[in-house]
Amino acid sequence: HHSDVRTYRVAIIGAHGVGKSALVGQFMSSECINAYDRVRNDDTDPESVFVMLNGEESELVFTYCNNIKVEMNRNELPDAFVMMYSVIDKTSFKTTEDELARLQNWDALRSRVLIVVGNKIDLVRSRAVSTQESALPSVNNRSSSIPPNCYFEMNHGKCLACAYRAKFMEISVVINHNVDELLVGILTQIRLKEELQ
Ligand code: GDP
Repeated sequence: HHSDVRTYRVAIIGAHGVGKSALVGQFMSSECINAYDRVRNDDTDPESVFVMLNGEESELVFTYCNNIKVEMNRNELPDAFVMMYSVIDKTSFKTTEDELARLQNWDALRSRVLIVVGNKIDLVRSRAVSTQESALPSVNNRSSSIPPNCYFEMNHGKCLACAYRAKFMEISVVINHNVDELLVGILTQIRLKEELQ
């Protein structure tokens, strides 16, 4: 009965230890909320989920890695990029900035969903990347690849995401904060992009 269900690929990219595998594990096991229903896909790929959203079911297949190989065939690029860092690890934020710039220079982001995610916000006392700071690209990232109309908004906030026209979300996988919202957000953005094409 899944034959008419569309499948989308989601790549979760971030430095070692930011919580990528924990996030996918949480996507697999967290309870359904009333906004959508989800069925576990036990018989095939263990890292795919069926999400029922607005009366329509879709399959999301997750992969996670430290970076996307530039040699990758463009046809193999995912439908959505989730760029993940840990708010207690400044280096992981830098990795996300660098990886975004690299993907942009390679023109891999065009017409694809892009979501910047800061994880581990439960570790309040150890926080090293503020919500505000996560918005500000470092100076050496202000290349021509950043749309000019975003310079203005960089003074405000949440604009590493803004600079790349990405969605931005802070989550905690361990306390299950914003994890369901992220899952629904990924699919919602994918469908919006699809409608625009
Ligand atoms: P990966 O290398 O990106 O796949 O990272 P893992 O998923 O293996 O997670 C690395 C470590 O961070 C593990 O010990 C996780 O339990 C922990 N971790 C993941 N998410 C969170 C979170 O939201 N809060 C806290 N406190 N720890 C987390």
